[in-house]
Amino acid sequence: MSDKMIKCTDLTYKYISGEEGKEKYAVNGVDLEVNKGEFLVILGHNGSGKSTIAKHMNALLLPSGGKIFVDGLDTCEDDNVWEIRKSAGMVFQNPDNQLVATIVEEDVAFGPENIGIEPSEIRNRVDESLKKVGMYEYRKHAPHLLSGGQKQRIAIAGILAMRPKCIILDEPTAMLDPSGRKEVISTIKDINKNYGITIILITHYMDEAAQADRIVVMDSGKIVLSGNPREVFSKVETMKKIGLDVPQVTELAYELKEKGIKISTEILNIDEMVNVLCQLK
Ligand code: ADP
Ligand code: MG
Repeated sequence: MSDKMIKCTDLTYKYISGEEGKEKYAVNGVDLEVNKGEFLVILGHNGSGKSTIAKHMNALLLPSGGKIFVDGLDTCEDDNVWEIRKSAGMVFQNPDNQLVATIVEEDVAFGPENIGIEPSEIRNRVDESLKKVGMYEYRKHAPHLLSGGQKQRIAIAGILAMRPKCIILDEPTAMLDPSGRKEVISTIKDINKNYGITIILITHYMDEAAQADRIVVMDSGKIVLSGNPREVFSKVETMKKIGLDVPQVTELAYELKEKGIKISTEILNIDEMVNVLCQLK
């Protein structure tokens, strides 16, 4: 047990590719701590190392250098891997690759069955998890007939049924339509706020990132910015330099300030912008 859910020190990972065995640093000296109960977003353009870090968080990859601890357990020690996989669950981009059964409740039962949970207890966990993601009434349905957002919620229920401390979601909304994205994000927020599960969300949607407790921004395998959404998005120039956008209202505030209007650039949504503009008159 540790007070940190995740702790990386000088985490480094290099891929060795091609016939000549060329080395490529996907993650290069990352120090990162994630608190228990935190909702952390990782931002960064394609190839910045987000998925590589995520895969270290449940020992799918092991560091080439440095260390990563999950709830105090070193992922490099074989004896810890089972415990780490139980406490840190992963949800991936494509919902169709994650669903294994032909009935929703069987799919959610798959994880707990694999870790040897008693059948009566599995029943409880499946019902409880499906209720938490708002999919209980679909328990007898066929997953492949559900929408993308519903499928991702089933995938999340499957992880919840393992009673994890932490869920790592690697672009879980990238393949969803806007309403599916909203469903999934509100589910993620709900399990974070109401059930205290630590969330690490990788996304490239700024409106999703704006809802996090903290954002870390990656570029070329390194963390280049870290702070709450207001702090990070107010660094409009740095974000643009590394090829990332900020929410439109934040950019509007930035442009107005550039034009000499006295306005805070720490604005995240339309309501805040309206309030600030009304005070200008
Ligand atoms: P992101 O998730 O931010 O898009 P990744 O962690 O997937 O980034 O990739 C980081 C870097 O590592 C990229 O340059 C990518 O090309 C490289 N990479 C990822 N997976 C492999 C692999 N299996 N073999 C070689 N290089 C890889
Ligand atoms: Mg990725």
